[in-house]
Amino acid sequence: MSLVKPKKVLGQHFLTDQNIARKIVDSLGSEVPDILEIGPGMGVLTQYLLQRSELNVHVIEIDRESVEYLQQHFPTLQHIWSEDFLKADIAARFSGKFNVIGNFPYNISSQIFFRVLALRNRIPETVGMVQKEVAERIAASHGSKVYGILSVLLQAFFDIEYLFTVSEGVFNPPPKVKSAVIRLKRNNVEALPCDEDFFVQVVKAAFNQRRKMLRNSLKDFCDSLPAEFAEKRPEQLSVGDFISLTCQIENLKKNKA
Ligand code: SAH
Repeated sequence: MSLVKPKKVLGQHFLTDQNIARKIVDSLGSEVPDILEIGPGMGVLTQYLLQRSELNVHVIEIDRESVEYLQQHFPTLQHIWSEDFLKADIAARFSGKFNVIGNFPYNISSQIFFRVLALRNRIPETVGMVQKEVAERIAASHGSKVYGILSVLLQAFFDIEYLFTVSEGVFNPPPKVKSAVIRLKRNNVEALPCDEDFFVQVVKAAFNQRRKMLRNSLKDFCDSLPAEFAEKRPEQLSVGDFISLTCQIENLKKNKA
């Protein structure tokens, strides 16, 4: 384990607790054989993924030294992509559906979730370790102070479970923050009843001024917001409310035109 020096800039915090590594891998269902691990580092999760013979394991790792380490230590690991996850055309690499797992590099965890969201019809399940606050935010319900853009957009298409908290001490080097493991499972919503790009714009505009009432933060979209929403703040709206609000604004616009 001491062969590779952690590189701070890559968000390298290697998990050293085997029980937690196993628990993370055990949290993943097995309905889909193809699995992509993001940022395997020295393979603490990979080793348990490889033990599951029903899985077809692929890993993507940006750090060359880690890639060399994986090549040397895991001869049965056939699909190692020495690349930046954010730049790779992941969907083109798999013929069908695939799941995602990883102790994610925390500096890019939101970007990872936005990519999972974009590829939601290809990715039935994601199990990820992230900064605890990020996990809380993604899993938060309306009414919570940490409910925000990522919560609404992800919950519109995924069932989200906060699985367990992980303390700083089980990493080398220890991060400054606690971590948590969450699971996202694609729900059965195929399409929203409103335009999806417009839904994203409404959610973003509402939370970008989260202290303001919606009639102010959304005034560029609609000058007279439906009364049930006008004096609310974004954290008071459930995911269903946001969808309904977007549909209503769309209808108001259509009627005006
Ligand atoms: N899974 C390992 C390492 C976690 S640290 C463990 O649990 O011990 C995060 C890992 O993500 C590091 O190995 C880092 O090199 C890698 N990484 C960081 N940015 C990345 C990116 N953009 N694409 C792919 N891998 C990345």
